[in-house]
Amino acid sequence: MFRIRRVYDDITPANQEAMAQVQDILRAQFPGLSKKDVAKLPEQLRNPLKYRFRSVLFIAEGARGRVDGFALLLHEAALKFCYLDYVSAAEQMTGSGIGGALYERVREEAFDLNTVGLFFECLPDDPGLSRNPEIRKQNAARLRFYERYAARPIANTAYETPLKTGDDNPPYLVYDDLGQGIELPRDMARKIVRTILERKYAGVCPPDYIETVVNSFQDDPVILRKPMYVKKPPVPIRRTTPLDKRIILVINDRHWIHHVEERGYVESPVRIDTILKELDGTDLFHKVPPRHFSEKHIKAVHDSGFVEYLRKVCINLEPGASVYPYVFPVRNRTRPPKNLPIRAGYYCIDTFTPINGNAYLAAARAVDCALTAAKKLLEGYRLAYALVRPPGHHAEPATCGGFCYFNSAAIAAQLLSAYGKIVILDVDYHHGNGQQEIFYDRSDVLTISIHGHPSIAYPFFSGFVGEKGRGAGRGYNINIPLPESVDGDHYRNVLRDAIKRVTRFNPRFLVIPLGLDTAKEDPTGSWSLEAKDFASMGEMIGSLRLPTLVVQEGGYDTRVLGINARHFLAGLWSGAYSSETARVG
Ligand SMILES: [Zn+2]
Repeated sequence: MFRIRRVYDDITPANQEAMAQVQDILRAQFPGLSKKDVAKLPEQLRNPLKYRFRSVLFIAEGARGRVDGFALLLHEAALKFCYLDYVSAAEQMTGSGIGGALYERVREEAFDLNTVGLFFECLPDDPGLSRNPEIRKQNAARLRFYERYAARPIANTAYETPLKTGDDNPPYLVYDDLGQGIELPRDMARKIVRTILERKYAGVCPPDYIETVVNSFQDDPVILRKPMYVKKPPVPIRRTTPLDKRIILVINDRHWIHHVEERGYVESPVRIDTILKELDGTDLFHKVPPRHFSEKHIKAVHDSGFVEYLRKVCINLEPGASVYPYVFPVRNRTRPPKNLPIRAGYYCIDTFTPINGNAYLAAARAVDCALTAAKKLLEGYRLAYALVRPPGHHAEPATCGGFCYFNSAAIAAQLLSAYGKIVILDVDYHHGNGQQEIFYDRSDVLTISIHGHPSIAYPFFSGFVGEKGRGAGRGYNINIPLPESVDGDHYRNVLRDAIKRVTRFNPRFLVIPLGLDTAKEDPTGSWSLEAKDFASMGEMIGSLRLPTLVVQEGGYDTRVLGINARHFLAGLWSGAYSSETARVG
């Protein structure tokens, strides 16, 4: 079993390891390559300007991160074509279907990039060009493979002219129009061929050789060689979202055990169902079951006394019973009451977040989901969504409140922060006081929150502009409190500024506590965002093209909650992927 995924950079350990294995395959399978050509791969991905092609690397990954094969695609945005530089299985994996799977993935990518198709070189099967029968047989097998996709050599040109007279096996130029029925005009073909020869073979092909080859393209439109091996109709391109481009979706499968059955308690189990129902209608998601993580991750951001307390008080409760805090240690925090229910006020900031019997279990499971999703980013996926309740962003190091017990987003951010700088951009209607407090002293985690002004909105005691961080963390907490009425245009302007701050900070990962209580008519908010606003918000955030973890926070109008979540996530997806061409062009 293997999965195909794109490697965007060599930043995470998983990607560094993958890149090194790709280089091993290059050395083993292409012994003619220079050391320099093998070594340049990471820079090729980082620096498209230098190489004048944007490089897209796919790997076929087997068990424990073993790279079984790879494909390197070069994208030229102005001329709208792709050049397939390599597609290769590791030595021990040839003939295992990996080459075929990689080729199909590359076709999908070239199609999604709106190109005229895919060009690549293939060694000839003509005895006049390939003298050794053994090698010729291998070449024929490759050409037969590509014929299944209607990809065949361009006929009647001098492309396969040896650079030196007498050289054996000069390659054909093969063209795959990706089933689009394109008649490739001669002038376009000439431009493409010139680009390939000048950029790919810079310093190898002399100018007069390039002129000869380019001018040999006379047919208009270009003509492909007749099929020689395959009679069947070509394999069609898959039009669904490729697996590695989907949003990882981790759902809290035990959220329903936490159910406060009281009038007006809006944080209810149906919230998850209403979101899931909307997401299930798309092919944008790849569901992954939550893994269990030890409590040490929770204790990495929360006070252990608080964590122990929550666990103990929950165990001792009768089924269905809840503890409501009712005495608060405003004057004396030094002596927590012995009686567990009374001690609730020591650890909770309000009177409407009851500690229900399953609160600990449900909140710990939400943490598992956020951590599972974060780990997927470390494995190289770009977008992940933890669909969880109870929410978490109001939970501070030693306090719960605002329906929140453990700060799942902050716990996941803490895990990711071992690999580089993080931005937590909280877009819930209510101030993200939890992560503000958790990371208040740190400069490697920038916390930003856009929320209803504390003079009108929960949590009332925090979320002011003046809260900027402390010590080394000074300047790394940004609060953007907004007035009672905010519509889509107003919100976009504010978000645009926030996104500039994110870009300036240049994080490695982005964490989004996603509250959808900014929606029109939400019972806990006062703003008026609609589905289309959530879509543009998602798109703006996705355009940052950062590995992004979204954690579900608030949003309580279950008539529109699912629709708004779907719009946000679909926007995020299209921002992350569709904008690619525009950015390069
Ligand atoms: Zn909220």
